[in-house]
Amino acid sequence: MVGAGLAGLRSVESLRAQGYTGRLTLVGEEPHRTYDRPPLSKAVLGGALDDTTVDSDWAGLDVDLRLGVRATALTEGVVVTDAGEIGYDGLVIATGAAPVRLPGEGRQYVLRTIEDALELRSRFGAGVRVTVIGAGWIGAEVATAAAAAGCRTTVVEADAAPLASALGTEIGARTVPWYREAGVELRLGVKVAEVAPEGVVLVGEGLLEADVVVTGIGVRPCVGWLAGSGIAVEDGVVVDGRLAASLPSVVAVGDCASWWSARYGRRLRIEHWDTALSAPEVAAGTLLGGEAVYDPVPYFWSEQFGRMVQFAGYVGGARLVWRGDPGADRAWAACWVTEQGRLAAVLTVDRPRDLVQGRRIIGAGQQVDERLLADPRAALRDAVLR
Ligand SMILES: Cc1cc2nc3c(=O)[nH]c(=O)nc-3n(C[C@H](O)[C@H](O)[C@H](O)COP(=O)(O)OP(=O)(O)OC[C@H]3O[C@@H](n4cnc5c(N)ncnc54)[C@H](O)[C@@H]3O)c2cc1C
Repeated sequence: MVGAGLAGLRSVESLRAQGYTGRLTLVGEEPHRTYDRPPLSKAVLGGALDDTTVDSDWAGLDVDLRLGVRATALTEGVVVTDAGEIGYDGLVIATGAAPVRLPGEGRQYVLRTIEDALELRSRFGAGVRVTVIGAGWIGAEVATAAAAAGCRTTVVEADAAPLASALGTEIGARTVPWYREAGVELRLGVKVAEVAPEGVVLVGEGLLEADVVVTGIGVRPCVGWLAGSGIAVEDGVVVDGRLAASLPSVVAVGDCASWWSARYGRRLRIEHWDTALSAPEVAAGTLLGGEAVYDPVPYFWSEQFGRMVQFAGYVGGARLVWRGDPGADRAWAACWVTEQGRLAAVLTVDRPRDLVQGRRIIGAGQQVDERLLADPRAALRDAVLR
């Protein structure tokens, strides 16, 4: 296993759970045992938690854990690292993804590791001018924590609405009031040219002064070390429905894997905790000769501005149906329905029951009654056509 994040650890656990008794080596660049990242931008940044280490039976797993070791190249049957070569009969690539940075000489914080979170938190405080670049999932969560810590928080976003690339501008626009309520200044349609020592240089507008600049504009899969290995890479490691890569006995999981989804008839690379948690079971099976296919309904959650936002499914070209009035109701949902009348995706804001039921309906490929779907007083499951 290369990469000791959640997907790497879950691969070790899955191989043992499926009866593999041979030698296992887990190589991780970070000096820590596997920890969870979702709390970094929530409980850790908010000051409620310092440690998010994943609970696992390390002794029982009997794994040769090599922390602080970076894989630098791959040749057939050998992982080359900065601490020597490691031979393998089977390989799990689980190297995750790393934040994209912007040009400029100024200090820019990103949020990927526990160190990032603790350092950023130490910079927060009353009156500190924080500028967050990007109003995506991470940007919204960082802004939530910064505002709660009393920072004078500004979010700059190139798109016309928050979350536009994830959910579209129509949904994203409904989250704009959340920023206002929290006292966060949201500047939309503004592009950043570079990060300067005094703040952020905006295209056409000049300098926006800031004490702390956080860049949250997305991540790229960590696959550079595979260059020249013969492993096909295209926005992540290209794997099939069984998560097998283009070389024999190699699988890939988590944020770095771009797998073939028969459900959606396209490749998916999903940067969600749930994928890192569940894909390794299939990948381990594939290494052990199994035929199982990984084809989930993607699931994601975010906690922002005091709200629990959850999403399941894949929008594709499906049509948006509101469930409740985001302008009037604090809790609401949105559904997407395909041309065939099937539920494709559901987004919920403080409506966890809708999420659970919606996810099940999407998974089963069921058709729905749009009238009931749009009525927030009716249970989502009652909208299923029988
Ligand atoms: C701040 C934050 C908040 C998040 N919040 C949510 C959320 O609310 N909901 C949700 O669904 N998802 C969330 N996510 C996403 C989720 O955490 C990721 O999808 C998940 O961590 C992916 O796990 P992974 O094991 O594939 O990759 P990673 O967690 O990135 O682990 C990969 C590991 O491999 C190591 N590595 C990389 N290259 C090498 C190399 N060459 N050699 C050795 N080791 C290497 C890395 O250092 C890293 O430790 C969040 C992510 C972050 C950063």
